[in-house]
Amino acid sequence: MILSIIPKSILPQKINTNKNIFFKGNINKTELLSDSYQPSASSAQIINEKLYQQYQIQSDIDDPALLYQIYQTIKDYCEINDSNDLFAGLKIRTDAIDDTIFENRHFEEQTITFNKNFNFKYLPKYTKKLYEKGMIPTDNPLYILYLAFGDYLLYKTNPKTYNEQTDKYVKPKDEYISRFLTNTARIDIFNKNYLAAKMSGVNLPDAANYLFIKNRKDCELKFPDGSLPFAQKEIPVFKSMQEIKEYLKKLGIKAKFPNPEVAKYFAEAIYEIIKLIGDDKIFKGLKIKPWQNNATKLIAALKVNNRNPKKACIVIRTNYDWSKQAEKSKIDYNCCYHPYINPRYIFVHELAHYLDWKANPKAFNEVGMSFQNKERKMSDYEKMVAQKVSNYATTSTIEFCAEYIAGKTAGINYPTETDEMFRKNWHGIKINFSNNS
Ligand SMILES: [Zn+2]
Repeated sequence: MILSIIPKSILPQKINTNKNIFFKGNINKTELLSDSYQPSASSAQIINEKLYQQYQIQSDIDDPALLYQIYQTIKDYCEINDSNDLFAGLKIRTDAIDDTIFENRHFEEQTITFNKNFNFKYLPKYTKKLYEKGMIPTDNPLYILYLAFGDYLLYKTNPKTYNEQTDKYVKPKDEYISRFLTNTARIDIFNKNYLAAKMSGVNLPDAANYLFIKNRKDCELKFPDGSLPFAQKEIPVFKSMQEIKEYLKKLGIKAKFPNPEVAKYFAEAIYEIIKLIGDDKIFKGLKIKPWQNNATKLIAALKVNNRNPKKACIVIRTNYDWSKQAEKSKIDYNCCYHPYINPRYIFVHELAHYLDWKANPKAFNEVGMSFQNKERKMSDYEKMVAQKVSNYATTSTIEFCAEYIAGKTAGINYPTETDEMFRKNWHGIKINFSNNS
C-alpha cells in the first residue's frame, strides 16, 4: 500500500544529494546533535546501530542528515510513551520513489521508504514551506517524520482498522474539523496528521481530539502537552463602570451596555485594537447600542444604515444570557467555530467590521450584500484557507477578515496563504499586526 501526502506540484526540484556533506541544519531539538559522537564517515552506521539496539529498527540508510532526524523522531515517540518497543520490527530504507518524501508499505513489508532523491538536509525548510502554504498545521521541522512514523504506529496498533479506514472519508459533519488540520476529509490522512500535530506540540481544539478518538479509540498513544496558539494576555483591568465610561468617552465613543460584564469585554477589545493600530481617534463617533431582538441568533453586530451610508453602530443583544459567555466562548473555540477563547474577541470581531466599513463603506456594503443575496460564494479554495482561521470565517470574505483580525489580535500566527487572503480582501483601515505583543 502506498500512501502519499505531498502533491507533486510542490515537490522541490530533484536535488543531487552529496553524501559527504553532513547535516548541520536547524533542527530545533539539539539533544541528538550534542551527543558524544562526532560526524564522521561512519556516523550513519553508528545511528543505524543505535536504532537497532535501542528500538529494534532495521535501517540501511546511509544519509546522516536523514538519520539524525529519524533518530530524534523515534526517540520523541518512545520517550513520551515510555517504551522502546513501539517500532520494533520496522524496516527503513531509501530508494528512488516518485512524487513523495516517503512511502509506507506496512502490510507487505513493514517498511518505510524515504525518497533517495530528496535532500533531507532541507526537510526543515521544506516543512516550513508546506506550513506557509497552509497544508500542515505547524512548521515543526520533524512534522513530516512524525507523520511517517505515526502512520506506522496507527497500522501497528490495529492493522484491520487501519486498512478499513484507508481512502475513506469522515462524516460530512466532521469535514470541517478534518480540513482545519489537513485540507482533506480523508480519515486516514486526518489520523496521521493528528499524531504529527500532537507530537509537534500543537494544541488542537477538542473537536479534533474527539474526531481522532472516534476514529481510533484503540490508539492509546501519549503526547507532549501542547500550548494554546495564543498567549493569555494581560489587559488593564477596568475596575468599575465609571472607569470604562471615562475611557470610552476619551476615545469619543458613546456607549450603552446590557450589563457591566459586557462593558468590560468591550473596553478590553477597544484597548487591544487601539494598541494594534496606534490611533486612539480611530473610533471617534462610534455608537454602541443595546439590541432587543428575538429573530436572530446573533449576539452582537455592526448595523449599517442603508439610507445613510455614513452611519453605522455596533449593537449588542440584551435578551441574551451574557453571564455564561465565558463558557460558551470556550466551546466555540473547541469546535473550531471561532479562533479565540476570551469573549472580548467577539467585540474585536465587531470592531474589525467597523474598521472595514469605515475606510470604505461602499466596498463593505457591496461585498456584504453580494454574500447576503448569495450572488457571491466563497470558492472551495477560499474556504480551505479560511478554515484555518475558523468555521465562521468560511461564511463570507467579510466574516473571514473579522475573524482573522480577532485571531491575530489574540496572538495567533497564520500561514502565509491565509495572510495573503486577508490582504486581498481587506478594504479597511491599515493594521500593523507587528505591533501585537
Ligand atoms: Zn461578523
